[in-house]
Amino acid sequence: MTEAPLYGCIEAGGTKFVLGIARDANTVLRTARVPTTAPQETLGAALAFFAEGQAAFGRFDAIGIASFGPVDLDPLSPRWGRIAETPKPGWRGIDLAGPFGSAFDCPVGFDTDVNGAVLAESLWGAAAGTDVAIYVTVGTGIGGGALIEGRPVHGSRHPEMGHMLPRRHADDRDFAGICPFHHDCLEGLASGPAILARWGVPLCDLAVDHPAHAIVAWYLAQLVVAQQAMLSPRRIVLGGGVLGTPGLLDKVRAQAAELSGGYFGTGDYADLIVAPGLGDRAGLLGALALAQGACR
Ligand code: ZN
Repeated sequence: MTEAPLYGCIEAGGTKFVLGIARDANTVLRTARVPTTAPQETLGAALAFFAEGQAAFGRFDAIGIASFGPVDLDPLSPRWGRIAETPKPGWRGIDLAGPFGSAFDCPVGFDTDVNGAVLAESLWGAAAGTDVAIYVTVGTGIGGGALIEGRPVHGSRHPEMGHMLPRRHADDRDFAGICPFHHDCLEGLASGPAILARWGVPLCDLAVDHPAHAIVAWYLAQLVVAQQAMLSPRRIVLGGGVLGTPGLLDKVRAQAAELSGGYFGTGDYADLIVAPGLGDRAGLLGALALAQGACR
């Protein structure tokens, strides 16, 4: 009998790296968390974790990395597997994929954290059985990954859905927005830090009748309608800390249904817009899906 394959999984986030060793989605053998500090320190700790894992469980068949962005995903680029122009100090141009491929002599699957998450949700979670699916996280930033017939969308780089430019809400005209690139893009208006900048506390700490709830829902609903217009998704998974606010998902559904004007043929917006099926495991399982994909 041949042993089940062994995968290394890295959810590379801006504040922490979540590491895992797994045989499949239901057999995660070991996990660890490493703070995202200086690249050498963080990557060194991750390499040490997998070296110990290899000593315990044997050789890796592949390693998957689901990373914060922007990253270079073009397989023909000499910068494939590297972080691009991030504002995060010290990380610009850092090679994430290379060190793991060389240290463990195995293929490396590499993509954005949200492309990994949409892949995982389509394999094991809330987007299972759909041909066009989108995963959006609303937290420290806003990011989205799209999956079309099983393949994450890359293109010239990868989608940056958080940086679309929404219409301003009538009661939110004075706030300049916090995106350093576009000011009042979606991330500049509806991310966790944008909410803090306006109202001083996280959305979940504001009373249910506070206008912030309707304003944030209105902006997120515009992302949903834009996605309907451009990609015709069957499912949009909305995750991240801000979506943990009770009632927000329903408000986004109602706003999106209204803004769409009944045009896109969507019956029930509760079927289109859903919470993550994998909860906070979508990141690590995304890395697992990328590792599995690297073996094929
Ligand atoms: Zn922006």
